[in-house]
Amino acid sequence: MSDCCSAPGLMPFNTALKQLLDNVPSATKTQMLAIEDCLDRVLAADVVSPVNVPPHNNSAMDGYAFHSSSLSLGGEQTMQVVGRSFAGEPYSGKTNVGECIRIMTGAKLPECCDTVVMQENTSVDNNTMALVKAPKAQANVRYCGEDISKNEAVFSKGHKLSAIDLGMLASLGIADVEVFAPITVAVLSTGDELKSPGQTLSDGDIFESNRFALLGLLARLNVNVLDLGIIADDKQAIRDAFIKADLEADVVISSGGVSVGEADYTKDILDELGSINFWKIAMKPGKPFAFGKLPNSVFFGLPGNPVSALVTFYKLSVPGIEKMQGQPYKANTQFSAITTTPLRKSPGRMDFQRALLSYNEQGLAQVTSTGSQGSGVLSSIGRANCFIVLSAEQGSVEAGESVIVEPFTSVFQ
Ligand code: AMP
Ligand code: MG
Repeated sequence: MSDCCSAPGLMPFNTALKQLLDNVPSATKTQMLAIEDCLDRVLAADVVSPVNVPPHNNSAMDGYAFHSSSLSLGGEQTMQVVGRSFAGEPYSGKTNVGECIRIMTGAKLPECCDTVVMQENTSVDNNTMALVKAPKAQANVRYCGEDISKNEAVFSKGHKLSAIDLGMLASLGIADVEVFAPITVAVLSTGDELKSPGQTLSDGDIFESNRFALLGLLARLNVNVLDLGIIADDKQAIRDAFIKADLEADVVISSGGVSVGEADYTKDILDELGSINFWKIAMKPGKPFAFGKLPNSVFFGLPGNPVSALVTFYKLSVPGIEKMQGQPYKANTQFSAITTTPLRKSPGRMDFQRALLSYNEQGLAQVTSTGSQGSGVLSSIGRANCFIVLSAEQGSVEAGESVIVEPFTSVFQ
């Protein structure tokens, strides 16, 4: 791993992301799991359909089924109803020319039939069905394997299973799948000034918030979490906490102490324990960020400022954790919108400004800054649903100009 601190200036955001992704290990541990336990889990093997869906030709309508050769009968078209096929109760007999069966939606179409007329286009008197409007030959039939055919690839390794995917697996008769095992992520906050909510603040203290937000975000990522709490700015306490975290977790995340202030021992201890790079990334919020390896785990050192901590976690640690759980990197969706507010920016760093995306009366995307973009102003994220992403080179933007927006994913909503 190259040390970017020695490089002059700041590291471009995309370089940091690439280095991070190149250096986190890929997922290896897998497990077989019942599909009902697989929501948001990542497949560790391709899934191939063991069956045809639908498993047999069936009717798309409630109506009458017959062979299309019956349609060539001249004059008024009538057919004798000789049987019925209901869902789960197929017709096992034959139909001759001029004969049909009653059939319901989804019911199996017998081999002797290839066409269905919807019941609204018929009139029926006792066992005689008259075609009020004749269907085309082969109309209203759903064919065996039309949705998915046997041995067709359904999902690839690395696919994250949604609720709909679980329904799909069930529809194929698949009860268990092989998924990647969740990794364990340890979280700790450093700082003598930090007090837990519920405690009394002494002069100069603040309530600790990063860990609570991070634990919530981690819950969305389906990892096992090890919460190590607040660690005082004390060399031995920090060393003990990192050693414990490294022994028990695959990923260790700390916040605070990476911008190297006087009472921040994090850097010294990490240097002693592992191989960690202290990056200065050309991104705002979030310039300081530490990344590297401890003896048994990957380390992400987030800045202490709450907005910086959350944005660097979301933009850098989340893709790393996703890779470690088997998910290939996929950039978040971005598109253009008109900003309704002017945006202040000086060239140099990539900006992730917090904003609210909406649609105007013409249906065009517009975006409005959520106000103060200070790296400690947590409410600026709380009120936002997207980032306005301004490139490093870009300067200030006037209201009415087009900007790139990146809606928050479900991890951040
Ligand atoms: P540091 O990176 O440790 O110098 O912290 C930068 C700023 O973030 C300081 O104002 C800290 O008080 C604040 N900070 C650090 N950790 C936390 C935390 N876990 N929750 C809230 N604020 C924090
Ligand atoms: Mg600190």
